[in-house]
Amino acid sequence: MSSHRIAVIDGDGIGPEVVAEVLRVLDAVAEPAGFEYETTLFPWGCRYYVEHGHTMPADAIAMLAHYDAIFLGAVGDPRIAPEEVAGVGPVLAIRFGFDQYANIRPVKPLPGAPYPLARPAPDAIDFTVVREATEGIYVGLGGRFAPDDPQVAEIVAMRKVFEQSSEIALQTGVFSEAGSRRVIERAFLLAEERDGRRLVTSATKANAMKHGMSLWNDVFADVAREHPDVQSEWNNIDALAMRFVLKPESLDVVVAPNLFGDILTDLSAALLGGLGFAPSANLGDGHFPAMFEPCHGSAPDISGKGIANPTASLLTLAMMLERLGEQAAARAVEDAVRSVVAAGEVRTPDMGGASSTEEMGRAMAGIAAEMLAER
Ligand code: NAD
Ligand code: MN
Repeated sequence: MSSHRIAVIDGDGIGPEVVAEVLRVLDAVAEPAGFEYETTLFPWGCRYYVEHGHTMPADAIAMLAHYDAIFLGAVGDPRIAPEEVAGVGPVLAIRFGFDQYANIRPVKPLPGAPYPLARPAPDAIDFTVVREATEGIYVGLGGRFAPDDPQVAEIVAMRKVFEQSSEIALQTGVFSEAGSRRVIERAFLLAEERDGRRLVTSATKANAMKHGMSLWNDVFADVAREHPDVQSEWNNIDALAMRFVLKPESLDVVVAPNLFGDILTDLSAALLGGLGFAPSANLGDGHFPAMFEPCHGSAPDISGKGIANPTASLLTLAMMLERLGEQAAARAVEDAVRSVVAAGEVRTPDMGGASSTEEMGRAMAGIAAEMLAER
């Protein structure tokens, strides 16, 4: 029997609320699917920060390295800790620490979920965004400078308004050849695996970001040549954002640098019915555990009420199970989630209903276990 060690970081706000349902569903499917697992809860995040002065211990990455996978609820709570604290907290530390360069965000609307577009029909949309997650403009380089600081002398001389400013901030993006190549390659491999239209679309903007994006474009062209079985195209990010709304059915795999991918995937979460429906996985090269997390944050506006939608987290659980090699369990969880959402009897408030997080989790757990027992 296969056995998996899973590190669980439940985090802040609705994090622990949705993670409770993930653990419920995991518990329901393990036995009928025929695998064993062990979870360890790491209570890191802003609550931990209030007590210890940091969001996780110094040896956190070393501790997590022993696990087969990491599941993270959500981290951040502006009510108890400044936003920068959540920012440098577990999510980025784990992505960078385990070099999880590919953030995979599938966009496959669930029938029955709130759907914002007049056209196309939700079932015409099925694409995945592969977001670069370790470089770009999120590397944290730069600083805030006084205009008379010699480090910014040349920049300040560029424009009158810089000179007139009390402060200048630089936010430097880093785009590397190998870093771009590995994530673009992963997008092409994904396009080959999916039974989609075998098209990779690159999100770019070389006309305005001439250094980083021209390197990205060159690597994209290179990788595209190595995969003649997959069609490829590029779109400037602004036009691509429009296409996400006007012609999302024309997409198959979208590969995007960090910042563009971050913004595009909240946009694509809207196609799914909101952040309560958007799953994601952070993948590296396989030497280290991957991290699975819903796209949403800790939702302070609804936390503590027990009304968060657990769908995003349970679809994320399905992605984790698939990655762990538990295909039957993964399929059952995804099918159970889809069937509960489609039936529409148990619905959290973001879906227009009055059900609780727990009611929805219980319904999904029950169906997933039944499906596996019948197989
Ligand atoms: P958010 O995703 O927490 O919430 C945005 C909106 O979506 C809110 O109105 C919220 O109620 C709603 N929402 C989110 N998840 C939902 C769910 N499962 N069910 C129903 N409604 C849901 O984003 P935010 O408000 O910008 O950020 C709140 C905190 O979370 C901040 O501290 C932020 O830094 C942090 N954050 C963390 C992560 C992460 O841990 N990966 C991601 C994004 C934001
Ligand atoms: Mn984001």
